[in-house]
Amino acid sequence: MTNALTLSRLRMAVQVVMLVFTVYGGALMGHYLADKVTGSLPALSCAYDQQNAGYCVLIPMQHQLHHRVGESIVRAQQFSVDYIIPFGFTMLTFLAFFFVLNKAFCGWICPLGTVQEFVYKLGRKLKLGIRRFTQDSVGRVRPVKWAVLILMVLVLPLAAGLGYTSYVTGDAYCQVCPSRVVTTLMTADPKQIAVNTADTTAFAFSAARSAIFGFVLILALGMRQPFCRVCPMLALHALFRRIVPLRLAKKQSGDQCGKCKACYQACPMDIHEVAFEFGSKAFHADCTMCGRCVEFCPDDGMLALKLGPVALFQSSSAYMKRRAKIDKPDGAPCKPKSKSAANPAPAE
Ligand code: SF4
Ligand code: SF4
Ligand code: SF4
Repeated sequence: MTNALTLSRLRMAVQVVMLVFTVYGGALMGHYLADKVTGSLPALSCAYDQQNAGYCVLIPMQHQLHHRVGESIVRAQQFSVDYIIPFGFTMLTFLAFFFVLNKAFCGWICPLGTVQEFVYKLGRKLKLGIRRFTQDSVGRVRPVKWAVLILMVLVLPLAAGLGYTSYVTGDAYCQVCPSRVVTTLMTADPKQIAVNTADTTAFAFSAARSAIFGFVLILALGMRQPFCRVCPMLALHALFRRIVPLRLAKKQSGDQCGKCKACYQACPMDIHEVAFEFGSKAFHADCTMCGRCVEFCPDDGMLALKLGPVALFQSSSAYMKRRAKIDKPDGAPCKPKSKSAANPAPAE
């Protein structure tokens, strides 16, 4: 099994291809084609990256709230469907992508999610300690993503359009987004990490952006997916997760389930509900559809990644035993067995 295809290896291959595509796609296949293919990818494929393949839906959403909706309300009286239609199209393309993949964007495509996973793997190679959220502390962090979505993506851009806040808050979330720094640095463009001293607001935003980027990088060495906990995209996905066909499914009951907690140990988002709840309650708003819980669950068919009624991948004790030889649920690599342990000398 150590060289066999596993769900994690398949996912990593998809993540690497999508990382190259979202960061360099425009340079590789031309912006027109790349833009047609990706449309408004609901992943943090940054519009500030000049070589990318399309862009994150958050930027047109903020711009339209700022320049279309907000400014047209100010002009009042010119408020008409002409201003709502572009915003509607952004939401429609976004919804179309969401309907097909929804949370799988996080677990399989988002460049910032992938980079955080790589940094965590580096932390394991360096044998750094692992930090996890407890059940209580994760509960305190979870509401932050909703606050970021409402304030930074919706309210501030609209307020900028209405003239209540400064122009730079017209894309307030993009001003501090660490994906903007990560993806542009990958194209050797250092501009987005530089602090902007043009005015106080620009200085505050650019300093916050660089600080958040550094903080996320350091945290990711010992914690899985630190930025995802507060990401507004996670909240946007969560709004639609109950109506999309691709989801994490769990059986309605199980006598032994909840005792091993292997799924919770494997979960990069510290979702304890996956171990202790059943049915649809186990599919939490913070799930990224990475499938690690399914891989490590020893109960046949208890957990599954499903597309509609079809199980794409489901838990099995046989798979789990083989899978557990590659890495531990928390992502730490398994120690290779010594030759003598693997091939014990025959008894005399
Ligand atoms: S939650 Fe994480 S993986 Fe999902 S869009 Fe945000 S940064 Fe990317
Ligand atoms: S790993 Fe499977 S059996 Fe164990 S608690 Fe999680 S869902 Fe239940
Ligand atoms: S609940 Fe399962 S699929 Fe969802 S993030 Fe956790 S490990 Fe991944």
